[in-house]
Amino acid sequence: EVTTLIRTVGLDLLKPALPQRQLDGHKGTFGKLLIVGGAVGYTGAPYLTASAAVRTGCGLVSLGVPKTIWPIEAAKCVSAMPFPLPEKNGMLAGKALPQILEKLDGCDVLALGPGLGRGRETARLVWELLKTEKPLVLDADGINALSGHIDLLDARRGRPTVLTPHEVEFARIGGDLSRGDRERAAQDFAMAHGCVLVLKGHRTVTASPEGDVLVNTTGGSGLAKGGSGDVLTGVIASLMAQRADALRAAAVGVWLHGRAGDLAEQELTAYSVTPEDVVRKLPDAIREIL
Ligand code: AMP
Ligand code: MG
Repeated sequence: EVTTLIRTVGLDLLKPALPQRQLDGHKGTFGKLLIVGGAVGYTGAPYLTASAAVRTGCGLVSLGVPKTIWPIEAAKCVSAMPFPLPEKNGMLAGKALPQILEKLDGCDVLALGPGLGRGRETARLVWELLKTEKPLVLDADGINALSGHIDLLDARRGRPTVLTPHEVEFARIGGDLSRGDRERAAQDFAMAHGCVLVLKGHRTVTASPEGDVLVNTTGGSGLAKGGSGDVLTGVIASLMAQRADALRAAAVGVWLHGRAGDLAEQELTAYSVTPEDVVRKLPDAIREIL
C-alpha cells in the first residue's frame, strides 16, 4: 500500500523543473524531437503538436506524416521539418517503420499519436515503435492502439514514457474510473505499468511509477475543443527533448498548457479560444515561471 502524497502543482514545483536556457546553447543543446502522426482528415493535429513543441523551446522538431497530407504540413509548419511517409487508406502504412526508425535514431524523443487514425496497420506500427529505447510521449490514437495490448507498454518499464489519455482513452487501456477517484486511478495505472500517466480533463492528474500524484489547477473550458490535447503533447515532448525528466516534463507541460489556455480565455473568452491561440499564449505562461 502506497501512502499517496497528492500535491497541487504550483510555482515552487515549476520553477526548478523548467529546463535552463544556456545563453551559448545551440539547437542540439535544446533537443531533437520526432513527432509521428497525422492522417487524411486529421491534418491539424500534427501541426498543432509541432507548433507547440517549437514554442516551448525544442531545438529541432521533425514531423513524419502520411505522404498525401505532407504538402499541407510543409506549408503550415515552417519552423519544424515535416517529411512524407508511406501510407495506406490515408493513414501511415506499416512500411513506414524503417524510415521512422532511421529518423528517430538522430532524435532524442518520440511523440507518437496525434491524428494518427485508427487502422490495424497504424496500430501495428505503434506496437513496433514502443520497442524504441528513446523517451516516448504517447497520445490519442497511439494510446488507442494499446487497447488489448497493454503488455507492450509494460515492456517499456525503465524507459521514460508518458501517456496522455483523456478519460475515454484511459478506459480503453484498462484505466479504472469506476470508484470516481481520478487521483487513485491514475496512480494505480502509473505504478502498475511503469509509466507517467497524465489523466486529462478539468484538473488533470499526473502520476508517476513511484506513486507521486500531482493535481493541476490551470485550464478551463476554453480547452474543451478538438486539438487542445495535441498542443499538450507538443509541450510535454518539447520539455523532454530539453532533458526534463518524464514526471517534471508532464507536470510543467500540463501547467503551462492550462495557464496558456487561461490567458487565451482572458483575451478571447472561453467560447472563442482555439488551440492555436493556446500555442500563441505559451510564451506568457512560460514567462510566469521564469
Ligand atoms: P483532448 O481531449 O485530447 O483534446 O485534450 C483536451 C485537453 O484540454 C486536455 O489537456 C484537457 O485537460 C484540457 N481540458 C479540456 N476540458 C477542460 C476543462 N473543462 N478544464 C480544464 N482543462 C480542460
Ligand atoms: Mg486528444
